[in-house]
Formats: sequence, structure tokens, C-alpha cells
Amino acid sequence: MTERRTPPKPVSVGAARHAVRPSVPEGLGLASQSARRRMVEGLRSIGIRDPDVLTAMEQVPRHAFVEPGLASRAYEDVALPIGHGQTISRPSTVARMLEMAVATVPRGQRRAAKALEVGTGCGYQAAVLAALFGEVVSIERVRGLHETARVNLRALRLANLRLAFGDGRLGAPSSAPFDAIVVAAAGHAIPDELLTQMQVPGRLLAPVERPGGQALHLVERLARDSWELTVLDAVRFVPLRAGTI
Ligand code: SAH
Repeated sequence: MTERRTPPKPVSVGAARHAVRPSVPEGLGLASQSARRRMVEGLRSIGIRDPDVLTAMEQVPRHAFVEPGLASRAYEDVALPIGHGQTISRPSTVARMLEMAVATVPRGQRRAAKALEVGTGCGYQAAVLAALFGEVVSIERVRGLHETARVNLRALRLANLRLAFGDGRLGAPSSAPFDAIVVAAAGHAIPDELLTQMQVPGRLLAPVERPGGQALHLVERLARDSWELTVLDAVRFVPLRAGTI
């Protein structure tokens, strides 16, 4: 794999919190809709441009994926706990990663494209992916979280999203190749199984542990035997672990 490095950008995935701090009274649909609209304005202001990503972020009710006690903070640009020692990424991180993941798929072809998520967590990012891509597979290694995501997602009735319980480092060979692969937890390397399950052309985004700390990695599969790696911004994700629990 050839590697090029880009210097950290001024607006990084781990950028300072932006100004959106709406408070959402629990269970109020209209209030949450306007809070989401303000969240999307915040995303626009930090440079998210892809119309489909912005629409997907506006559609998915993030408050439905966090514990009831945290619902009022669901549209702040913060990571939140989702149980089992895991966290849901901040909206700006989700938007930045998904914007890069979908960038090489022409807008008219996205509903025919396939995506894989490693690390379902509470199911939030999986729901955003399902609003962007035609078919989505999301894998989680913690059974309790896999079940929680199933419950969280039930009301959204996303027929194009399949949740799987297992070690996502192995990918989902029976559904490959994927136009986009998004890894939501940081490993020490990107598993070969994921690289070979990428479409040509295809993109993979994954946080990876490096000596100086985690960095977001973008891999582009250019041909059957050619992958290009770009090391992007410093990030902070929970660890990618082996096996299931
Ligand atoms: N995308 C999630 C974020 C979850 S945090 C969301 O929107 O909520 C990362 C998740 O990756 C955790 O739930 C963790 O259990 C899971 N994970 C870590 N290693 C994994 C592996 N090898 N396979 C599948 N999931 C894994």
C-alpha cells in the first residue's frame, strides 16, 4: 500500500466544539427537529458540504439512540456514553467520516452502493449510513450493544440495514465488495480482510493507533492489487477488539 501523509487540517475531526448547544426537551418531536436543523447548520459551518450527508444527519433522530437522561444533549457536538464502556461519536466526526466515505460515489449512484460499518454501537451511525447508501451491513462484537441497536433502530424501519453480531475485523464476506467501509473503533492496523472486501474503486475510513496517538486513515482501493493510504487528522476512538462478548 502506498502511503502519503497530509498535515493536520485546521478544522479536524476532533475539532473544538462548535457553537450548537440546543437543549431538547425529551420526547418533543418538533423541538428535536429544530435542534437537528441547528446541528446541521453547525456542520455546515465547519465545512461539511455534501448535501446527502447533511440531509441524512438532519433526518436521523440522534436523541433516540442515547440514554433518556442524555437526550437533552443529543444535538450538542459531543461524544456520549452508550453503555458497555463505549461511546457514540460526536456528530461532526460522523459527518466528516461519512462525507469522505461517500465522496467518490456519484450522487445518482448512492442508492445502488453498499457500505459496511464495523462497530454498530447504539446504531446511530448505521442509521445515517442507511440514509446515504442503498445497502448497509453493520457489525458489533458486544452482544448487549447489538441488541440495544436493534431496539433503537426498530422504529426507523430501515429495510436496507442489516445488523450482524460478530468480530467486524473479519468483515462480511458474503455481502462484499463494499463501496465504503467505515470502522468506528481504533486498531493497530487495518485488517487485510477489510481491504480485500473493498470495491474497486472504494474507500475505507478507520482510526488507527500510531506511536503519537490515533489518526484517521483513509484507504482508497485503486485497482485489484493497489490501495492508497492517506493519514488524516488526530482522532480519539474506543479500541477495536478481537472476538465477541
Ligand atoms: N458507530 C457507533 C459508535 C460505537 S463505538 C455508534 O454510532 O454508536 C465503537 C463500537 O465498536 C463499540 O460498540 C465497540 O464494541 C465496537 N467494536 C470494537 N471492536 C469491534 C470489532 N472487532 N467488531 C465489531 N465491533 C467492534
